[in-house]
Amino acid sequence: MKRLTILGSTGSIGRSTLALVAAAAPGTYAIEALVAGSDVAALAAQAKQFRARLAVVADPSRLGALREALAGSGIEAAAGPEAVVEAAARPVDWTMAAIVGAAGLRSTLAALERGGTLALANKESLVCAGEIVTALAARTGARLLPCDSEHNAVFQALDAKDPALIEKIVLTASGGPFRTADLATMRAATPEMAVKHPVWSMGAKISVDSATMMNKGLEVIEAARLFPVSPDRIEVLVHPQSAVHGMVQYADGSLLAQLGTPDMRTPIAHCLAWPDRMGVALPRLDLASLARLEFFAPDPERFPALRLAREALNAGAGAPTILNAANEVAVALFLERRLGFLDIAAVVEETLDQLGAPATSGLEAVIALDAEARGVAGRIAARRAAA
Ligand code: NAD
Ligand code: MG
Repeated sequence: MKRLTILGSTGSIGRSTLALVAAAAPGTYAIEALVAGSDVAALAAQAKQFRARLAVVADPSRLGALREALAGSGIEAAAGPEAVVEAAARPVDWTMAAIVGAAGLRSTLAALERGGTLALANKESLVCAGEIVTALAARTGARLLPCDSEHNAVFQALDAKDPALIEKIVLTASGGPFRTADLATMRAATPEMAVKHPVWSMGAKISVDSATMMNKGLEVIEAARLFPVSPDRIEVLVHPQSAVHGMVQYADGSLLAQLGTPDMRTPIAHCLAWPDRMGVALPRLDLASLARLEFFAPDPERFPALRLAREALNAGAGAPTILNAANEVAVALFLERRLGFLDIAAVVEETLDQLGAPATSGLEAVIALDAEARGVAGRIAARRAAA
């Protein structure tokens, strides 16, 4: 029996993970802890269904409601950011890190500190504090498994023993809802239009990131942290069919790819069963009915976020932390209709221009820079919104 903890269990990735657990033979998995942001009703229902030992809600004001919802179940209830970190630190075999944003950083680190296997969906923690995350995994021997579909694909296609024989890795992008839209349409885009993703079904924040292509920018940084390749060897291709998720090209000319339907249950299952594989009852990719796989270079004019992410990666030091924090602020304001769609990348760019790439040493410095960048981005966004 494998003991699991799911951080962000009520979200899109969390629910897909629990769907795999529910479909497995009884006795395959046991749930230690489930963690959510504020949705107590969904969290309590999951905790009861999966007989979790512990349910944690990050919002401390929801503790009473959680206790009430779990009354008589024997499931432990806790609340607040410290309780989230403590839940992540409990010994288990496997953890899913699927909290959205840099808010997931401390719990990601707590799980790595404890060892075991961590499936990482929470890419923002790698962007915000990449070296801290990877160095901690190396120190404790925790196994960090890439769960982002592109990185999971690359992980599956990586077979060379010698990193020098990897010529490049390719991350594909669906292109999002505005792949063929003109700038005027994008300028007037509403949250409803931006979260309406053509192929993937995901949480609101990552859906907006897909629409700006900042998601792919974050993923380029994520790939640079996870794989032994320099940034110039990480290529992005727009691939509207979303059948090929990632590729690795080797020195002998071989290009290895992982394909599948655009359903996160496949990469999650790969992480759950790793180093084995498990059966997943999903529709299979039907290449004959797809008929055509297309690949295009991304358009830098309409999708500047990709360039900003590469610049932040190349600048190094605190620049990726600033990029991520400013983007989180701008996306949240866009979702609240307080900022235009094209302003998202503009706010990120101006925040980076203002703060540069300050050196950060240690977690507390990264967290302080993240907070500083949020403040600066908020002021820049307010000025743009008023203009
Ligand atoms: P989501 O918004 O659907 O879910 C986020 C989860 O995190 C929810 O359970 C929410 O309650 C919880 N949460 C939010 N703030 C929290 C906090 N401060 N403390 C504790 N919990 C908190 O998001 P999602 O689409 O499931 O994405 C989760 C992560 O996985 C993101 O980092 C995203 O980039 C990544 N990811 C998602 C997909 C996808 O298909 N959805 C694919 C690849 C990577
Ligand atoms: Mg992805």
